[in-house]
Amino acid sequence: MKTDLYRILILISVIVAGWSCSSQDNAISNAEKHITARDIKTHDSILASDAFMGRMPFTEGETKTINYLKAQFQKMGLQPGNKGSYFQEVPMVEIKGNPSDNLKIHSSKGDFTLKFLDEYTASTRRIRKKITVENSPLVFVGYGIVAPEYNWNDYKGLDVKGKTVIMLVNDPGYALRDSTLFKGKKMTYYGRWTYKYEEAARQGATGVIVVHETGAAGYPWGVLRNSALNADLLLRAKDDNLSRCAFEGWLTTDAAIKLFDNLGFNFKQLSQQALQSGFKPVKLPADVSLEINNKLKFDVSHNVLALLPGTTRPDECVIYTAHWDHFGVGAKINGDSIYNGAADNGYPLACLLETAKAFSKLAVKPERSVLFLAITAEEEGLIGSEYYVTHPVFPLNKTVADINYELFIPMGKMKDITITGFGQSQLDEYVAQIAKKQGRYVVEEPHPENGMYFRSDHFSFAKYGVPSLFCKGWTESAKHGKQWTLNKVSDYWANHYHQPSDEYHSSDDAGGLVQDTKLYFELGLMLANQTAFPNWKQGSEFKKIRDKTMSGK
Ligand SMILES: [Zn+2]
Repeated sequence: MKTDLYRILILISVIVAGWSCSSQDNAISNAEKHITARDIKTHDSILASDAFMGRMPFTEGETKTINYLKAQFQKMGLQPGNKGSYFQEVPMVEIKGNPSDNLKIHSSKGDFTLKFLDEYTASTRRIRKKITVENSPLVFVGYGIVAPEYNWNDYKGLDVKGKTVIMLVNDPGYALRDSTLFKGKKMTYYGRWTYKYEEAARQGATGVIVVHETGAAGYPWGVLRNSALNADLLLRAKDDNLSRCAFEGWLTTDAAIKLFDNLGFNFKQLSQQALQSGFKPVKLPADVSLEINNKLKFDVSHNVLALLPGTTRPDECVIYTAHWDHFGVGAKINGDSIYNGAADNGYPLACLLETAKAFSKLAVKPERSVLFLAITAEEEGLIGSEYYVTHPVFPLNKTVADINYELFIPMGKMKDITITGFGQSQLDEYVAQIAKKQGRYVVEEPHPENGMYFRSDHFSFAKYGVPSLFCKGWTESAKHGKQWTLNKVSDYWANHYHQPSDEYHSSDDAGGLVQDTKLYFELGLMLANQTAFPNWKQGSEFKKIRDKTMSGK
C-alpha cells in the first residue's frame, strides 16, 4: 500500500514536472514568436539611416536615437529604468592635449630628449588645463602587473609615489607563448595598456609609460601616433581624475633601447629578465620632465534604460546592453561621409529591442528584474558603460549578469555560437545548453590574442566583477559553411568596420540575428527565473573582484 502510494506520487510528480516543463517551453516559444527578421531589419533600417547621422553623442543624431529607443520601450510597456526616467545623464569631457615637443630625460650621464610622435606619446586624464611633471625618477617595472592568482607582482617592495614607471606591453605568457604562464597566447586583462595605466595609478605613480611593440600590442606605432593627435573623450569623474597618473604615454621600442643604452642598461636583457616571476623592478638613474597643455570641452550624453520589474525578487537584476553610438559624420570615404554603423551597432541594438519585446510578451513575467540598457560613447572608450557600473541602478552584487550585443553582421542562419572570452565565466554552460536546443554548437572566438573581450561594454561590467557575456553566430553559416563566413567577416573588418560603408541593405539576411536574439532571450530568462548567481571560473582575472563584492566587503 505504502509502496503503491509512493509510486503514484512519483508518477504524478513526473507528469507535473513534464507538464510544467512543456508549458514553460510553450510560454518561451509564444514570446519568441515576436522576435522576427522583419522587425530587426526595420529597426536597423531606421537607426542606420542617414537621417540618424551616424548616431554621434552630443549631436542631433543622439537626440533622434535616444528618443527612438525610448519610444520603442514605451510601446512595449516597459518602465523607465532610471528613477522615473528612460535616460541617464553621462557627463563627459573632451581633452585635447598638447604635450611638450620633447620628453626631457635628466641623468648623471648627461641630459637628452625623446621626440613627441616619433619616439614618445603622452596624454593625461586629469581634467586640468595644464599638467607639469618635473624630475620624476624613472623605474622599469617589467610588465607592470600585480596578479595574485598567478603569484605575480612587478611592484613588489617598491614605492613608486612621485615616480614614472616604464613597462612592457602585453603579458609574459604571450611573450613566451607559454600556456602555463598567465593564459599563454590568449591576452589577459593584465596585458592591456588600460590595465597597466590603472595599476600604475593604484600604485601612486606620477607617470606611466608603456613600451610599444607591434606584435604584442596588436597594432603598429602609427595607431598610437594618430590617437595622440586626436582629442580624448572621457568620463567627467568626480575627482577630475586626479587619482589617475599625471601622464600616460608610450615609447617606441627604438626609443626605449636608446633610453636604456644612454643610462648604461640593456633594454633587451632587462625585458628577458622581466619574464621571470621573481623579477625585481629596476630603478633607472634618471628622471623625466614634461608639460601637457589641455583644451577642455564639457558635454553631457545619455544612456537609455528600460525596466521589466521582477515579480518575486525585483531587487535582483539581469542586464542586457548594446551601445547606441557610432562615429557620426566624418572624413569622406568613396564619396560618403555618414558613418551609419549598421552592423556596429545598429543590428545589435535592434536585437536588444526585439529581446525586450519578447520579455514584454511573456504571459508570466520573470522573478528577477530585467534591465535593458542602450549605452552611449562605447566607441570613445566604453564611457557610457563605465558610467553605468559606477552609478548603477541595481547594486552590482545584485546584478546577476550582463549580456552584451556588439557588432552583428547579417550572415543568415548560423551553425555556431562563438563566445568571446570563452572559459571566463559559468555563463558559457548556459549558452551551451540553449545552443544545443537550437541545434548549434559553441566555439571559442578564434583570436583571443587580440583581446576582443576587453573591447566592448560587457568588459566594463567584468572589470567591476559582474559576469558578462559576448557571443554570436560568427564562424559557420548554415548555408555556405566556414570559408564563406570567414571571407565575409574578413571583408567586414577590411572594408566596412568603422567606415561609412557599414550600411543597411534591404537584401540583408537577418536569420542568424533572430537565432542569436532568441538565444539571448532564453539565457536572460533562465537567469531571471533562478536564484543562483553564476560566477567567474577559477583562473579568471575577474573572480576575485566578484567574490569580494558578493561577500559585501
Ligand atoms: Zn561596437
